[in-house]
Amino acid sequence: MATVNLTHSVPSSLPLTPFVNEPFVDFAQPENKRRMQAAIADVQSKLGREYDMIIGGKRLKTTGKIFSMNPAHPAEVIGVHQRAGTEHVEPAMQAAQAAFTTWSRTPVADRADLLFRAAALIRERSFEFCAWLTLEVGKNWGEADADVGETIDFLEFYGREALRLHGTTTPIQLPGERNQLRYVPLGVGAVIPPWNFPFAIMAGMTAASIVCGNTVILKPSVDAPTIAAKFMELLEEVGLPDGVVNLCPGEGPDFGSAVVAHPQTRFIAFTGSKAVGLDIHERAAKTQPGQIFIKRTILEMGGKDSIIVEADADLDAALDGVVASAFGFNGQKCSACSRAIVSADIYDVFCDRLQERVSKIKTGDPAENVYTGPVISEKSYRKVLDYLDIGKKEGTVLNGGHAIETPEGGYYIAPTVIADVAPTARIALEEIFGPVLAVIKSHSFDDALSIANNTEYGLTGAIYTGSREKLDRAREEFNVGNLYFNRKCTGAMVGAHPFGGFNMSGTDSKAGGPDYLLLFTQAKSVAEKLGHASPAAEKQAEQMGM
Ligand code: NAD
Repeated sequence: MATVNLTHSVPSSLPLTPFVNEPFVDFAQPENKRRMQAAIADVQSKLGREYDMIIGGKRLKTTGKIFSMNPAHPAEVIGVHQRAGTEHVEPAMQAAQAAFTTWSRTPVADRADLLFRAAALIRERSFEFCAWLTLEVGKNWGEADADVGETIDFLEFYGREALRLHGTTTPIQLPGERNQLRYVPLGVGAVIPPWNFPFAIMAGMTAASIVCGNTVILKPSVDAPTIAAKFMELLEEVGLPDGVVNLCPGEGPDFGSAVVAHPQTRFIAFTGSKAVGLDIHERAAKTQPGQIFIKRTILEMGGKDSIIVEADADLDAALDGVVASAFGFNGQKCSACSRAIVSADIYDVFCDRLQERVSKIKTGDPAENVYTGPVISEKSYRKVLDYLDIGKKEGTVLNGGHAIETPEGGYYIAPTVIADVAPTARIALEEIFGPVLAVIKSHSFDDALSIANNTEYGLTGAIYTGSREKLDRAREEFNVGNLYFNRKCTGAMVGAHPFGGFNMSGTDSKAGGPDYLLLFTQAKSVAEKLGHASPAAEKQAEQMGM
């Protein structure tokens, strides 16, 4: 075990450029198209491989397996993964605890550097990662690229943020004292990501945890374990010490909840549905025998996001924004627009033009870069079809309203628009997480705002209007964590749009923002009376910037 805390020895020579978001790949360029097709062919030749559970650097196999399948071709196995059970919780915790003693004392510059090196490798292999995302969760090329780009952004951003946090000083130095404020790690955390941003959110929550000196048990979604296994391979390649990240693919209700309940789990970083987030919140709140701290929960949950379209809006821009937000990645984003709240003055023309646009959306295999692909699983497919039945009774179907059958049996659902929906209808209030948009008529701007605020969620929202006064009112009264003016409500960029929701959308942790890493640390105030240490110790303190 290290005896000296080295976290004050950031080399001043660290070559840091200012953070910039990763540029998007233009797949219209023939060279990029060729590279993506080659990456898909290459990844297709690697499908079906078995991946290990990794605890303390040891590779383990279980009798039960998790099979990750391609939602566009449900018979195609993407990867075979181990199935962590409750018996793996203790070994994973002990490995993470053992690693914590040294990792928490590893200089922050080294921890940040590990993130920067991981980012560089992902950038080098971005087409390959895009191909894995396309095949494992059904993202078209642009959506896959956005996920990979956001992953790189999180690594680059959190590395810089950790260094910034490390340089924090107290605002006041009392006469005769040396006053210091340090952000120290919490301990062992559980990282529990969703399947829909299986790279960016999984890697982002993991990176934020470890760059602050914590160690983790990472339990990826059963619908997207392969991308997590690939990330783990990459972390090992850049030199992550054993036990800092323990990769345990497992089912949420047994393995996941047992990790949450473990008395030594210090924090839980979760992103997923409201129901699971609330379950984790409750479980984490129950003190276990031997537990000596209050667990911290960072819970980012579902959404039911609205776009308000006013009569004074640029209608083309509003249609672009609504369609992209509702049907990008088949509405399977927490930020997806699932409610368009449209002024009565333009309602009919808006609905006509919306119907025309949505009828042109192509649905098909994302490996061929079709705009909308399948939903993630049979469970999700059934859930969305059930909501279509409900929606048909709650409004007028303008587009879709049915499944699309293919010879391979992919989980395709036609992009669906249901108009004339009451603000309190079920499809207006419940998260569907599929390609289903409800259109609601508003009779005034007050009415539009009150409809926008009538769900239990509060994640994203947008408003299209030419009126400064309405924008100003929305700034105050539209109650969501991420609000957009005259642009779509999806596509948050790291650094520019710190992300997190109000109310039942979560704890508003603002991933990709300047406050995020505080959630993975605790602040320690140290005050030293001057004049009592030896001159050598004083000199050393000065050199260390204290
Ligand atoms: P989910 O809640 O079903 O699963 C999320 C994770 O929790 C998975 O890893 C799952 O295995 C695990 N889990 C399930 N039950 C558990 C339990 N009892 N204890 C511990 N872990 C458990 O969500 P999903 O289907 O993977 O993802 C879609 C949901 O995520 C949507 O509701 C979406 O809105 C939300 N989401 C939110 C954000 C955000 O930033 N707010 C971002 C992406 C997705």
